[in-house]
Amino acid sequence: MSFEKLGLIKPLLSAIKELGYEHPTAIQKRAIPLVMAKSDIFATAQTGTGKTAAFALPILQKLRNTTADENRLIKAVILSPTRELSIQIEQDIQNYAKNMSVKSTVLVGGKDILSQQRILKKGIDIVIATPGRFMEHIENGLKLTGISIFVVDEADRMLDMGFSKEIRKIHLLLPKRHQTLLFSATYSDKVRKLSKQILAKPAFIETAKKNTTVDTINQVAYMVDTARKAELLAYLIGSRNFPQVLVFTRTKVSADELFVELQKDGLKCGIIHGDKTQANRLKTLTQFKEGRVRVLVATDIASRGLDIEELPFVINYELPSIPEDYVHRVGRTGRAGRNGEAISLLDIYEKYDVRDIERLIGQKIPQEVVEGFEPDPNIRRKDEDELSLKSEHKKVDAPRVAKPSRKAFMKPVSRKKRKTTKRD
Ligand code: AMP
Repeated sequence: MSFEKLGLIKPLLSAIKELGYEHPTAIQKRAIPLVMAKSDIFATAQTGTGKTAAFALPILQKLRNTTADENRLIKAVILSPTRELSIQIEQDIQNYAKNMSVKSTVLVGGKDILSQQRILKKGIDIVIATPGRFMEHIENGLKLTGISIFVVDEADRMLDMGFSKEIRKIHLLLPKRHQTLLFSATYSDKVRKLSKQILAKPAFIETAKKNTTVDTINQVAYMVDTARKAELLAYLIGSRNFPQVLVFTRTKVSADELFVELQKDGLKCGIIHGDKTQANRLKTLTQFKEGRVRVLVATDIASRGLDIEELPFVINYELPSIPEDYVHRVGRTGRAGRNGEAISLLDIYEKYDVRDIERLIGQKIPQEVVEGFEPDPNIRRKDEDELSLKSEHKKVDAPRVAKPSRKAFMKPVSRKKRKTTKRD
């Protein structure tokens, strides 16, 4: 199947040819004809499957004749969870639309709202926005009457970030006759519920098995003590000569700490997390993309939408607290059919997190030990010691204990476990 066969117009065909796209990906083959046929869509597609082009190309084709209308109304809105992803989507759209007169812009927080309003007044066809900032524009009088296409990208992530209310509100304010396209990397109950609220007779597209990681990615976990993780990371980067690597931490604090440690090891590092300004994040990302930074340390939310071509290695310095984030993280490598490797550094506190992830992805992550970094057998989870102490007490004190405490048998919660917040 070729892009020509999908019925795309010449300006789009020549733009994607220049980008080196030879054949449509699975999601593109399925979604492009459906979007053109005005169907609502519910697609589960992982990052790296080419999902942006799957909605952007047919939207551009649909808008080719409706641009530059006198009323200067917006015709399509794409909601995305983060500033970075919004910017990435807009860059993709600009690349695809380079031979067309369709105009797009990004509306995200952290930027002056008045300058965004001035841009909108000039006449914009496609808006890519984070839900919060888009609501602000609506409250400031932005007209939605021209909108015929509404895209909710990375819906699962937006719901995790607490944007459910905004998405539904925006949807209710749209003109009755519009088409909605919902994309989600995972297929959770929350996403299903949202799909029922905002989609009308949708076509379902499932291009990957539920919550599975991409086939082309080799996954491995190295067991190591918490205190030696940074050392092991620096050793792996050096000894295996990783040209570029994206490293995930669970919190902003550990990202900061790791950044300092790696710099001490003489590695050229960048860091992206929720406390960094937008300008700073973009600068770091550019440096990484240009190869001036070898190691990019990032938290989950800040890393959404990072599209770095041919990224061969992703390292989970700490496992994510939400198992679905593992799928998103490793989706940064092995993109568009390329081979990638995802390495997790696993300490004893993450024993249960890895099981949750394995359950979600339906596969075992092989656990290995790097020579010289063998975990110290004397280091045990504090709560495990407490647990075994409790059960020993129970044996000794058996006659005095009426009922064993249920608490003693409950799954211990990792000390570091916490909910990811919007600010990450
Ligand atoms: P996405 O899943 O939209 O984040 O896309 C992942 C990467 O695949 C991006 O770098 C796209 O430019 C690239 N891509 C999208 N479609 C194709 C295609 N048909 N052939 C080759 N690369 C593609």
